[in-house]
Amino acid sequence: NTPLHELDPDVAAAVDAELRRQQSTLEMIASENFAPVAVMEAQGSVLTNKYAEGYPGRRYYGGCEHVDVAEQIAIDRIKDLFGAEYANVQPHSGASANQAALFAIAQPGDTILGLDLAHGGHLTHGMRLNFSGKQFNVVAYHVDEAGLVDMAEVERLAKEHRPKVIIAGWSAYPRQLDFAEFRRIADEVEAYLWVDMAHFAGLVAAGLHPNPVEYADVVTSTTHKTLGGPRGGIILAKKEFAKKLNSSVFPGFQGGPLEHVIAAKAVSFKVAASEEFKERQQRTLDGARIIAERLVRDDVTEHGVSVLSGGTDVHLLLVDLRNSELDGQQAEDRLHEVGITVNRNAVPNDPRPPMVTSGLRIGTPALATRGFQAEDFTEVADIIAETLKPGFDAEALKARVTALADKHPLYPGLK
Ligand code: PLP
Repeated sequence: NTPLHELDPDVAAAVDAELRRQQSTLEMIASENFAPVAVMEAQGSVLTNKYAEGYPGRRYYGGCEHVDVAEQIAIDRIKDLFGAEYANVQPHSGASANQAALFAIAQPGDTILGLDLAHGGHLTHGMRLNFSGKQFNVVAYHVDEAGLVDMAEVERLAKEHRPKVIIAGWSAYPRQLDFAEFRRIADEVEAYLWVDMAHFAGLVAAGLHPNPVEYADVVTSTTHKTLGGPRGGIILAKKEFAKKLNSSVFPGFQGGPLEHVIAAKAVSFKVAASEEFKERQQRTLDGARIIAERLVRDDVTEHGVSVLSGGTDVHLLLVDLRNSELDGQQAEDRLHEVGITVNRNAVPNDPRPPMVTSGLRIGTPALATRGFQAEDFTEVADIIAETLKPGFDAEALKARVTALADKHPLYPGLK
Protein backbone atom coordinates (compact mmCIF):
# COMPACT_ATOMS: atom_id res chain seq x y z
CA ASN A 1 0.00 0.00 0.00
CA THR A 2 2.97 2.31 -0.39
CA PRO A 3 1.80 5.55 -2.02
CA LEU A 4 3.24 6.63 -5.36
CA HIS A 5 5.35 9.44 -3.89
CA GLU A 6 7.17 7.00 -1.64
CA LEU A 7 7.34 4.01 -3.97
CA ASP A 8 8.44 5.88 -7.07
CA PRO A 9 9.39 9.52 -6.51
CA ASP A 10 10.69 9.83 -10.08
CA VAL A 11 7.38 9.01 -11.71
CA ALA A 12 5.50 10.95 -9.01
CA ALA A 13 7.57 14.03 -9.83
CA ALA A 14 6.61 13.79 -13.51
CA VAL A 15 2.93 13.44 -12.59
CA ASP A 16 3.11 16.41 -10.22
CA ALA A 17 4.88 18.53 -12.80
CA GLU A 18 2.25 17.65 -15.40
CA LEU A 19 -0.52 18.69 -13.00
CA ARG A 20 1.22 22.03 -12.46
CA ARG A 21 1.66 22.47 -16.23
CA GLN A 22 -2.05 21.85 -16.81
CA GLN A 23 -2.99 24.23 -13.99
CA SER A 24 -0.70 27.08 -14.96
CA THR A 25 -0.99 27.15 -18.77
CA LEU A 26 -3.89 27.51 -21.19
CA GLU A 27 -4.58 24.17 -22.87
CA MET A 28 -5.84 24.82 -26.38
CA ILE A 29 -5.05 21.57 -28.16
CA ALA A 30 -8.39 20.90 -29.84
CA SER A 31 -8.36 17.17 -29.06
CA GLU A 32 -7.72 17.62 -25.34
CA ASN A 33 -9.94 18.20 -22.33
CA PHE A 34 -9.89 17.85 -18.54
CA ALA A 35 -11.60 14.74 -17.20
CA PRO A 36 -13.63 15.26 -14.01
CA VAL A 37 -12.06 14.01 -10.77
CA ALA A 38 -14.79 11.34 -10.47
CA VAL A 39 -13.79 9.99 -13.90
CA MET A 40 -10.14 9.80 -12.84
CA GLU A 41 -11.21 8.12 -9.60
CA ALA A 42 -13.01 5.35 -11.52
CA GLN A 43 -10.05 5.06 -13.90
CA GLY A 44 -7.63 4.73 -11.00
CA SER A 45 -9.76 2.10 -9.26
CA VAL A 46 -9.35 -1.64 -8.50
CA LEU A 47 -11.18 -2.41 -11.75
CA THR A 48 -7.75 -2.18 -13.37
CA ASN A 49 -7.04 -5.61 -11.84
CA LYS A 50 -9.84 -7.50 -13.54
CA TYR A 51 -9.74 -9.70 -16.63
CA ALA A 52 -13.09 -9.75 -18.41
CA GLU A 53 -12.69 -11.04 -21.96
CA GLY A 54 -16.10 -11.19 -23.60
CA TYR A 55 -19.12 -8.99 -22.99
CA PRO A 56 -21.44 -8.43 -19.98
CA GLY A 57 -23.17 -11.71 -19.13
CA ARG A 58 -20.92 -13.66 -21.56
CA ARG A 59 -17.39 -13.58 -20.14
CA TYR A 60 -14.51 -15.99 -20.39
CA TYR A 61 -13.45 -15.30 -16.79
CA GLY A 62 -15.09 -15.74 -13.39
CA GLY A 63 -15.71 -12.91 -10.96
CA CYS A 64 -17.07 -10.49 -13.54
CA GLU A 65 -20.33 -9.71 -11.76
CA HIS A 66 -19.31 -6.17 -10.79
CA VAL A 67 -17.48 -5.13 -13.94
CA ASP A 68 -20.52 -6.44 -15.83
CA VAL A 69 -22.64 -3.86 -14.01
CA ALA A 70 -20.28 -0.99 -14.83
CA GLU A 71 -19.90 -2.00 -18.48
CA GLN A 72 -23.65 -2.43 -18.96
CA ILE A 73 -24.23 1.03 -17.44
CA ALA A 74 -21.70 2.47 -19.91
CA ILE A 75 -23.43 0.72 -22.85
CA ASP A 76 -26.92 1.83 -21.82
CA ARG A 77 -25.88 5.41 -21.17
CA ILE A 78 -24.03 5.90 -24.45
CA LYS A 79 -26.90 4.36 -26.44
CA ASP A 80 -29.30 6.77 -24.73
CA LEU A 81 -27.03 9.74 -25.18
CA PHE A 82 -26.80 9.35 -28.97
CA GLY A 83 -29.97 7.39 -29.72
CA ALA A 84 -27.97 4.38 -30.93
CA GLU A 85 -29.30 0.83 -31.35
CA TYR A 86 -25.93 -0.75 -30.51
CA ALA A 87 -22.83 0.30 -28.58
CA ASN A 88 -19.43 -1.20 -27.88
CA VAL A 89 -17.49 0.58 -25.15
CA GLN A 90 -14.39 -1.62 -25.17
CA PRO A 91 -12.07 -0.04 -27.76
CA HIS A 92 -8.90 1.09 -26.01
CA SER A 93 -8.63 4.23 -28.13
CA GLY A 94 -10.11 6.05 -31.10
CA ALA A 95 -7.69 4.34 -33.46
CA SER A 96 -8.64 0.92 -32.03
CA ALA A 97 -12.33 1.70 -32.48
CA ASN A 98 -11.68 2.71 -36.08
CA GLN A 99 -9.65 -0.39 -36.83
CA ALA A 100 -12.33 -2.69 -35.42
CA ALA A 101 -15.10 -0.80 -37.20
CA LEU A 102 -13.39 -0.80 -40.58
CA PHE A 103 -12.54 -4.50 -40.47
CA ALA A 104 -16.13 -5.30 -39.49
CA ILE A 105 -17.62 -3.66 -42.59
CA ALA A 106 -14.84 -4.13 -45.16
CA GLN A 107 -12.15 -6.62 -46.17
CA PRO A 108 -8.49 -5.81 -46.79
CA GLY A 109 -8.14 -4.72 -50.41
CA ASP A 110 -11.57 -3.04 -50.50
CA THR A 111 -11.78 0.58 -51.52
CA ILE A 112 -12.44 3.23 -48.86
CA LEU A 113 -13.12 6.92 -49.47
CA GLY A 114 -12.06 9.37 -46.76
CA LEU A 115 -10.92 12.96 -46.21
CA ASP A 116 -7.25 13.49 -47.05
CA LEU A 117 -5.05 13.77 -43.95
CA ALA A 118 -3.53 16.98 -45.29
CA HIS A 119 -7.03 18.45 -45.63
CA GLY A 120 -8.13 17.60 -42.08
CA GLY A 121 -8.72 13.83 -42.12
CA HIS A 122 -7.35 11.35 -39.56
CA LEU A 123 -4.54 8.81 -39.91
CA THR A 124 -7.05 5.96 -39.63
CA HIS A 125 -9.05 7.26 -42.61
CA GLY A 126 -6.49 6.00 -45.12
CA MET A 127 -3.08 7.48 -44.40
CA ARG A 128 -0.32 5.63 -46.24
CA LEU A 129 1.58 4.40 -43.15
CA ASN A 130 -1.54 3.52 -41.12
CA PHE A 131 -3.29 0.11 -41.21
CA SER A 132 -6.07 1.81 -43.18
CA GLY A 133 -3.70 2.96 -45.91
CA LYS A 134 -1.63 -0.22 -45.94
CA GLN A 135 -4.47 -2.70 -46.10
CA PHE A 136 -7.17 -0.87 -48.03
CA ASN A 137 -7.33 0.78 -51.41
CA VAL A 138 -7.62 4.43 -50.42
CA VAL A 139 -9.27 7.18 -52.40
CA ALA A 140 -9.21 10.62 -50.77
CA TYR A 141 -11.52 13.61 -51.09
CA HIS A 142 -10.53 17.17 -50.26
CA VAL A 143 -11.66 20.61 -49.22
CA ASP A 144 -12.30 23.24 -51.90
CA GLU A 145 -10.84 26.74 -52.26
CA ALA A 146 -13.21 28.04 -49.58
CA GLY A 147 -11.93 25.38 -47.17
CA LEU A 148 -15.18 23.36 -47.23
CA VAL A 149 -15.45 19.63 -47.94
CA ASP A 150 -16.07 19.37 -51.66
CA MET A 151 -19.24 17.26 -51.78
CA ALA A 152 -19.24 17.34 -55.59
CA GLU A 153 -15.82 15.67 -55.49
CA VAL A 154 -17.08 13.13 -52.92
CA GLU A 155 -19.91 12.20 -55.27
CA ARG A 156 -17.69 12.08 -58.34
CA LEU A 157 -15.07 9.87 -56.62
CA ALA A 158 -17.75 7.63 -55.10
CA LYS A 159 -19.30 7.01 -58.53
CA GLU A 160 -15.92 6.47 -60.15
CA HIS A 161 -14.41 4.14 -57.51
CA ARG A 162 -17.51 2.51 -55.95
CA PRO A 163 -15.97 2.34 -52.43
CA LYS A 164 -17.13 -0.23 -49.92
CA VAL A 165 -17.01 2.41 -47.20
CA ILE A 166 -17.34 6.19 -47.23
CA ILE A 167 -15.79 7.86 -44.18
CA ALA A 168 -17.08 11.17 -42.90
CA GLY A 169 -15.16 12.70 -40.02
CA TRP A 170 -12.13 14.83 -39.33
CA SER A 171 -9.37 15.86 -36.96
CA ALA A 172 -8.82 19.37 -38.26
CA TYR A 173 -11.85 20.93 -39.92
CA PRO A 174 -13.78 23.91 -38.59
CA ARG A 175 -17.25 23.23 -40.01
CA GLN A 176 -20.13 20.75 -39.75
CA LEU A 177 -20.38 17.97 -42.33
CA ASP A 178 -23.51 17.39 -44.38
CA PHE A 179 -24.38 13.87 -43.16
CA ALA A 180 -27.60 13.70 -45.20
CA GLU A 181 -25.62 14.34 -48.38
CA PHE A 182 -23.00 11.73 -47.41
CA ARG A 183 -25.86 9.26 -46.82
CA ARG A 184 -27.41 10.03 -50.20
CA ILE A 185 -24.09 9.48 -51.98
CA ALA A 186 -23.37 6.27 -50.00
CA ASP A 187 -26.81 4.91 -50.93
CA GLU A 188 -26.29 5.79 -54.55
CA VAL A 189 -23.11 3.68 -54.78
CA GLU A 190 -24.21 1.07 -52.21
CA ALA A 191 -21.41 1.94 -49.79
CA TYR A 192 -21.50 1.82 -46.04
CA LEU A 193 -21.36 5.20 -44.34
CA TRP A 194 -19.01 5.36 -41.36
CA VAL A 195 -18.86 8.60 -39.39
CA ASP A 196 -15.91 9.22 -37.06
CA MET A 197 -17.25 11.83 -34.63
CA ALA A 198 -14.21 11.70 -32.31
CA HIS A 199 -13.77 15.46 -32.35
CA PHE A 200 -17.34 16.69 -32.16
CA ALA A 201 -19.08 13.95 -30.10
CA GLY A 202 -19.51 16.30 -27.13
CA LEU A 203 -21.26 18.86 -29.31
CA VAL A 204 -23.58 16.13 -30.60
CA ALA A 205 -24.32 14.89 -27.06
CA ALA A 206 -25.28 18.45 -26.12
CA GLY A 207 -27.61 18.77 -29.12
CA LEU A 208 -25.44 21.51 -30.63
CA HIS A 209 -24.35 19.57 -33.72
CA PRO A 210 -26.25 17.23 -36.09
CA ASN A 211 -26.23 13.64 -34.82
CA PRO A 212 -24.45 11.28 -37.24
CA VAL A 213 -26.10 8.24 -35.62
CA GLU A 214 -29.27 9.22 -37.49
CA TYR A 215 -27.49 8.82 -40.85
CA ALA A 216 -24.56 6.44 -40.58
CA ASP A 217 -24.29 2.65 -40.52
CA VAL A 218 -21.43 2.85 -38.04
CA VAL A 219 -20.25 5.73 -35.86
CA THR A 220 -16.96 5.71 -33.95
CA SER A 221 -15.64 8.17 -31.41
CA THR A 222 -13.02 8.84 -28.82
CA THR A 223 -14.27 9.55 -25.31
CA HIS A 224 -11.62 12.08 -24.27
CA LYS A 225 -12.01 15.03 -26.64
CA THR A 226 -15.13 17.23 -26.55
CA LEU A 227 -16.90 14.34 -24.81
CA GLY A 228 -14.66 15.01 -21.80
CA GLY A 229 -14.15 11.47 -20.49
CA PRO A 230 -11.19 9.14 -20.02
CA ARG A 231 -8.86 8.35 -22.93
CA GLY A 232 -10.65 5.67 -24.98
CA GLY A 233 -12.91 4.74 -27.88
CA ILE A 234 -16.48 3.62 -28.59
CA ILE A 235 -18.44 2.23 -31.53
CA LEU A 236 -22.14 2.90 -32.16
CA ALA A 237 -24.15 1.29 -34.92
CA LYS A 238 -27.40 -0.05 -36.24
CA LYS A 239 -28.39 -3.40 -34.64
CA GLU A 240 -27.64 -5.38 -37.78
CA PHE A 241 -23.90 -4.70 -37.34
CA ALA A 242 -23.81 -5.76 -33.67
CA LYS A 243 -22.42 -9.26 -34.10
CA LYS A 244 -19.72 -8.29 -36.57
CA LEU A 245 -18.60 -5.30 -34.54
CA ASN A 246 -18.51 -7.19 -31.25
CA SER A 247 -16.37 -9.95 -32.71
CA SER A 248 -14.14 -7.47 -34.49
CA VAL A 249 -13.31 -5.72 -31.19
CA PHE A 250 -12.98 -8.99 -29.25
CA PRO A 251 -11.46 -11.38 -30.21
CA GLY A 252 -10.64 -9.63 -33.49
CA PHE A 253 -8.28 -6.94 -32.25
CA GLN A 254 -8.36 -6.81 -28.47
CA GLY A 255 -8.04 -9.14 -25.54
CA GLY A 256 -9.14 -8.12 -22.05
CA PRO A 257 -11.11 -4.86 -21.95
CA LEU A 258 -9.90 -2.03 -19.70
CA GLU A 259 -12.75 -2.24 -17.20
CA HIS A 260 -11.41 0.65 -15.12
CA VAL A 261 -11.52 2.86 -18.21
CA ILE A 262 -14.98 1.53 -19.13
CA ALA A 263 -16.25 2.47 -15.65
CA ALA A 264 -14.73 5.92 -16.13
CA LYS A 265 -16.44 6.14 -19.54
CA ALA A 266 -19.76 5.35 -17.83
CA VAL A 267 -19.24 8.22 -15.38
CA SER A 268 -18.39 10.64 -18.18
CA PHE A 269 -21.52 9.60 -20.14
CA LYS A 270 -23.60 10.51 -17.08
CA VAL A 271 -21.93 13.92 -17.00
CA ALA A 272 -22.48 14.33 -20.77
CA ALA A 273 -26.24 13.94 -20.32
CA SER A 274 -26.41 16.85 -17.86
CA GLU A 275 -27.55 20.44 -18.36
CA GLU A 276 -24.20 21.65 -17.06
CA PHE A 277 -22.44 19.73 -19.86
CA LYS A 278 -24.70 21.32 -22.46
CA GLU A 279 -23.92 24.78 -21.14
CA ARG A 280 -20.21 23.97 -21.25
CA GLN A 281 -20.43 22.83 -24.88
CA GLN A 282 -22.21 26.08 -25.75
CA ARG A 283 -19.32 28.04 -24.17
CA THR A 284 -16.90 25.83 -26.13
CA LEU A 285 -18.58 26.82 -29.39
CA ASP A 286 -18.91 30.48 -28.40
CA GLY A 287 -15.23 30.57 -27.41
CA ALA A 288 -14.03 29.21 -30.76
CA ARG A 289 -16.25 31.65 -32.65
CA ILE A 290 -15.07 34.62 -30.56
CA ILE A 291 -11.40 33.74 -31.14
CA ALA A 292 -11.89 33.21 -34.90
CA GLU A 293 -13.75 36.49 -35.25
CA ARG A 294 -11.20 38.50 -33.30
CA LEU A 295 -8.18 36.98 -35.07
CA VAL A 296 -9.45 37.96 -38.51
CA ARG A 297 -10.22 41.56 -37.42
CA ASP A 298 -7.29 43.75 -38.39
CA ASP A 299 -7.96 46.38 -35.71
CA VAL A 300 -7.04 43.70 -33.18
CA THR A 301 -4.14 42.13 -35.05
CA GLU A 302 -2.99 44.98 -37.31
CA HIS A 303 -2.87 42.69 -40.34
CA GLY A 304 -5.62 40.25 -39.50
CA VAL A 305 -4.80 36.56 -39.13
CA SER A 306 -6.26 34.27 -41.77
CA VAL A 307 -8.56 31.57 -40.47
CA LEU A 308 -9.44 28.64 -42.74
CA SER A 309 -12.99 28.81 -44.09
CA GLY A 310 -13.24 32.29 -42.53
CA GLY A 311 -14.45 31.07 -39.13
CA THR A 312 -15.84 28.06 -37.31
CA ASP A 313 -19.02 26.37 -36.23
CA VAL A 314 -17.34 23.78 -34.01
CA HIS A 315 -14.87 23.74 -31.11
CA LEU A 316 -11.76 24.61 -33.10
CA LEU A 317 -10.37 27.02 -35.65
CA LEU A 318 -7.46 26.69 -38.03
CA VAL A 319 -5.06 29.60 -38.41
CA ASP A 320 -3.64 29.83 -41.92
CA LEU A 321 -0.02 31.03 -41.97
CA ARG A 322 0.66 30.37 -45.65
CA ASN A 323 1.13 34.10 -46.29
CA SER A 324 2.88 34.78 -42.99
CA GLU A 325 6.60 34.98 -42.28
CA LEU A 326 5.86 32.87 -39.22
CA ASP A 327 5.54 29.16 -39.90
CA GLY A 328 3.46 26.71 -37.85
CA GLN A 329 6.42 25.58 -35.74
CA GLN A 330 7.48 29.14 -34.86
CA ALA A 331 3.90 30.15 -34.03
CA GLU A 332 3.44 27.07 -31.83
CA ASP A 333 6.76 27.84 -30.05
CA ARG A 334 5.83 31.48 -29.45
CA LEU A 335 2.48 30.55 -27.95
CA HIS A 336 4.23 27.95 -25.80
CA GLU A 337 6.55 30.67 -24.56
CA VAL A 338 3.61 32.73 -23.25
CA GLY A 339 1.87 29.66 -21.76
CA ILE A 340 -0.66 28.73 -24.44
CA THR A 341 -0.48 25.15 -25.74
CA VAL A 342 -1.66 24.52 -29.30
CA ASN A 343 -0.46 22.29 -32.11
CA ARG A 344 0.87 23.24 -35.49
CA ASN A 345 -1.12 21.70 -38.28
CA ALA A 346 -0.75 21.37 -42.02
CA VAL A 347 -3.21 23.45 -44.01
CA PRO A 348 -4.55 22.32 -47.41
CA ASN A 349 -1.85 22.65 -50.09
CA ASP A 350 0.70 23.52 -47.43
CA PRO A 351 3.96 24.76 -48.99
CA ARG A 352 5.96 23.92 -45.85
CA PRO A 353 7.04 20.40 -44.78
CA PRO A 354 4.81 18.35 -42.39
CA MET A 355 7.11 18.86 -39.38
CA VAL A 356 6.95 22.65 -39.86
CA THR A 357 3.54 23.36 -41.46
CA SER A 358 1.75 26.63 -42.16
CA GLY A 359 -1.10 26.32 -39.71
CA LEU A 360 -2.19 26.22 -36.10
CA ARG A 361 -5.11 24.23 -34.71
CA ILE A 362 -6.68 26.05 -31.78
CA GLY A 363 -9.42 24.48 -29.68
CA THR A 364 -11.58 25.62 -26.78
CA PRO A 365 -12.92 22.43 -25.05
CA ALA A 366 -10.38 22.37 -22.21
CA LEU A 367 -10.75 26.07 -21.39
CA ALA A 368 -14.55 25.79 -21.46
CA THR A 369 -14.23 22.91 -18.97
CA ARG A 370 -12.14 25.22 -16.78
CA GLY A 371 -15.08 27.64 -16.76
CA PHE A 372 -13.95 30.21 -19.33
CA GLN A 373 -16.68 32.68 -20.32
CA ALA A 374 -17.04 34.89 -23.39
CA GLU A 375 -14.94 37.72 -21.90
CA ASP A 376 -12.14 35.28 -21.06
CA PHE A 377 -12.11 33.93 -24.61
CA THR A 378 -11.93 37.51 -25.89
CA GLU A 379 -8.84 38.05 -23.76
CA VAL A 380 -7.37 34.73 -25.00
CA ALA A 381 -7.94 35.85 -28.60
CA ASP A 382 -6.14 39.13 -27.95
CA ILE A 383 -3.22 37.36 -26.28
CA ILE A 384 -2.90 35.03 -29.29
CA ALA A 385 -3.11 37.94 -31.74
CA GLU A 386 -0.43 39.90 -29.81
CA THR A 387 1.82 36.85 -29.62
CA LEU A 388 1.74 36.34 -33.38
CA LYS A 389 2.74 39.98 -34.06
CA PRO A 390 6.36 40.99 -34.66
CA GLY A 391 8.08 42.28 -31.51
CA PHE A 392 5.70 40.55 -29.11
CA ASP A 393 6.30 41.07 -25.38
CA ALA A 394 6.54 37.52 -24.00
CA GLU A 395 6.72 38.51 -20.33
CA ALA A 396 3.68 40.77 -20.42
CA LEU A 397 1.66 38.23 -22.36
CA LYS A 398 2.65 35.44 -20.01
CA ALA A 399 1.39 37.52 -17.09
CA ARG A 400 -1.99 37.86 -18.84
CA VAL A 401 -2.08 34.07 -19.34
CA THR A 402 -1.30 33.53 -15.65
CA ALA A 403 -4.09 35.91 -14.65
CA LEU A 404 -6.60 33.87 -16.68
CA ALA A 405 -5.30 30.57 -15.28
CA ASP A 406 -5.59 31.94 -11.73
CA LYS A 407 -9.11 33.20 -12.41
CA HIS A 408 -10.24 29.66 -13.33
CA PRO A 409 -8.37 27.21 -11.09
CA LEU A 410 -8.06 23.68 -12.44
CA TYR A 411 -8.38 20.67 -10.11
CA PRO A 412 -8.20 22.88 -6.99
CA GLY A 413 -8.40 19.85 -4.71
CA LEU A 414 -5.42 18.09 -6.28
CA LYS A 415 -1.86 18.70 -5.20
N1 PLP B 1 -10.46 9.77 -35.05
C1 PLP B 1 -10.27 11.09 -35.11
C2 PLP B 1 -11.15 11.90 -36.01
C3 PLP B 1 -9.28 11.69 -34.34
O1 PLP B 1 -9.08 13.02 -34.42
C4 PLP B 1 -8.48 10.88 -33.50
C5 PLP B 1 -7.42 11.43 -32.63
O2 PLP B 1 -6.83 12.40 -32.81
C6 PLP B 1 -8.69 9.51 -33.50
C7 PLP B 1 -9.69 8.99 -34.28
C8 PLP B 1 -7.79 8.58 -32.74
O3 PLP B 1 -7.94 8.59 -31.41
P1 PLP B 1 -6.79 7.96 -30.45
O4 PLP B 1 -5.72 8.97 -30.41
O5 PLP B 1 -7.52 7.76 -29.16
O6 PLP B 1 -6.36 6.68 -31.05
